[in-house]
Amino acid sequence: MKRMLAFVWIAVVSFAGLGAPAVAQDAPKQHLPIIDMHLHALRAKGWPVGPSFICPGMDFAAFDPRTKWDPNHWWETCPNPLAAPSTDEELIREILAIMDRYNIVLAATSGPLGHVRRYRQAAPHRTVPGLNTAVANLPTPDSLRELIRKGEVTILGEIAPQIEGISPEAEILEPYLALAEELDIPLAIHVLSFQPYYLFPQNRATLNNPLLLERMLVRHPKLRVYVMHAGWPMLNEMMSLLFLYPQVYVDVAGIDWMLPRKEFHRYLRSLVEAGLGKRIMFGSDTSLWPETLSIAIEAIESADFLSETQKRDILYNNAARFLRLDKNGQPQSRPR
Ligand SMILES: [Zn+2]
Repeated sequence: MKRMLAFVWIAVVSFAGLGAPAVAQDAPKQHLPIIDMHLHALRAKGWPVGPSFICPGMDFAAFDPRTKWDPNHWWETCPNPLAAPSTDEELIREILAIMDRYNIVLAATSGPLGHVRRYRQAAPHRTVPGLNTAVANLPTPDSLRELIRKGEVTILGEIAPQIEGISPEAEILEPYLALAEELDIPLAIHVLSFQPYYLFPQNRATLNNPLLLERMLVRHPKLRVYVMHAGWPMLNEMMSLLFLYPQVYVDVAGIDWMLPRKEFHRYLRSLVEAGLGKRIMFGSDTSLWPETLSIAIEAIESADFLSETQKRDILYNNAARFLRLDKNGQPQSRPR
C-alpha cells in the first residue's frame, strides 16, 4: 500500500465510486464544452499519508526539521480548506455533478483500472481511460498491450516515476514507451516539483526536470506525449522542450488550483506569450476534492491576459486536436 501511495499526491490517484448513479449524458449545455486531460479515479480516503484537507492557492508553511513532519501543518492557517467526501459514492457523484455543471464532455481519467471502470460505467461517453500506477506495479508489456486492445487503457498515464525516485530516462520505462509509440496511444507523464520530500522520500526535484524527457522523444519520434502540470516551475526547460519537439503538449493540472493564483497566471501567461498557446491543455488533477475542478476552470476563465479564443484553445480545442477527436467527439481509435 505504501508503494501504492507513492504516486498519489497530485499524481493524486483516485479510487472511484462503487455503484454511483449514472449521470445523464445529456448534461446542461450552458457552458461551451471543456475537456479535462487530467482527472483521477480514486477511492475516497485513498490518501491516508497526506493532509486531511487541501488548501487551494495558499502559501506553504516553513518546516522546522527538529519537529515531526505533519502534513496538516503544511498549510498552517488555511482560510478555505476543502474536505474530501467520505464515501466513494459521494466522491464520484460530486465530481460528475461538477462535470455536468461545466459541460465537461471528456475527461482523461486515470487510476487503478478497477476504479476507472466505475467512472466509465457512470459516464461512458465522457471517460477516456488511463492507467495510473506505480512503475513497480505496471502490468507486463504484453498485458498492457491486451488492455489497450480491449480499450481498457487509451492513455498511458498518469505515470509519475519521479515520485518513486525513478528518472524518466530509466530503461525500465523503455518497453512501455515503445508500446505506446507502436500502438499510437498518448503518454501522460507527470513533471512537477511539488510533492515534498517528507511526504515522498524518493521524490527529487532534479528528476522533475522537463529536459529529462528529451531522450524518450528522440528515441520515439512518433510518441504522443503530454507533460502533466506543465513541468512547473521549470519554465525555461519546459519551453525549451516544447520548442524543440513540436509534437509535445502540456496540461496545467494541479497548478491551476494548488498554487497561489498569481503564480499560476504568471506561468501560464509566460507560456502563452512565448507563442505556445496551441500546446496547452486544461487539466484539473481532481481526485479526492471535487471542488478543485471548479477552481481549476475558474483559474482559466479569470485569466484576463487570455483572449476568448485562447481560453477556448486551452479548455477544449488543443485537447481535441491532441486526442484526434472524430466527428462524434470521441478519440479516434485504430484497429490494433
Ligand atoms: Zn501528477
